[in-house]
Amino acid sequence: MKILAVGWNYLEHNKELEHREVPSEPVIFMKPETALLRENKPFFLPDFSTDVQYELEVVVRISKMGKNISEKFAPRYYDAYGLGVDFTARDLQRKFKEQGGPWELCKGFDNSAPVSEFIPKEELGDLSSLSFHLDLNGTTVQRGNTKDMIFNVDAIVSYVSRFFTLKTGDLIFTGTPVGVGPVKIGDRLEGYLEDRKMLDFRVE
Ligand code: MG
Repeated sequence: MKILAVGWNYLEHNKELEHREVPSEPVIFMKPETALLRENKPFFLPDFSTDVQYELEVVVRISKMGKNISEKFAPRYYDAYGLGVDFTARDLQRKFKEQGGPWELCKGFDNSAPVSEFIPKEELGDLSSLSFHLDLNGTTVQRGNTKDMIFNVDAIVSYVSRFFTLKTGDLIFTGTPVGVGPVKIGDRLEGYLEDRKMLDFRVE
C-alpha cells in the first residue's frame, strides 16, 4: 500500500507557515508503508530532528483500484474516513525548502503516520462538512472542517490518480488546518472526528 498526502490544503494553515499563495494544483507527497503507526501505539521522537510537529488530518481510505478517475466518479473509489497525524520534522523541512529539495526525509520517516481506525462514509453523514480537532495534553490545539479544504477529496482523488494507480487500501492524507506545533516526550495526542475519539497516543 502507499500513503499519499496533500500539502497546503487549508488557507489558514498555509498562512501560519508563511505560504500565502493558494496553490493552483494540489501539492502531493508520499510516505512509505513503514511510516504507518497503528492502534494508538506510542510515537518515539526521532534523533535527527529537534522540531517534530503534529499535523492532524482527515485520511481517506481507497476501496477500489483506479487510474485517471474523474472527479464525478471519485466517490466510488473510497469507502471510509479516519484521522491521521502527518508528523513532520519541521527543521529538516525548512532546510529542504531552502535547498529546493524533496520532502521524503522530513515527512516519510518511520512511524511518521499514526492512523486511526476507519469509519464507513455512510455513517458519517455530510462528508463535505466534517469537523475534526486535536487535543494536546487536554487542550485543543487544532480545529478543522473538511469544508475549508482548498481541494476537496474528490478533486484530490482525481488529481493523484492521473499520476499513480490507486489501489485498495491506499491512504490519502488530505491536509492540516491551522494550529500545528511541536511535540515533546510525554505529550498525549487525542484526535476527534466529529465527536468520536479516533486517536489517543503518547509521545515517547
Ligand atoms: Mg500535512
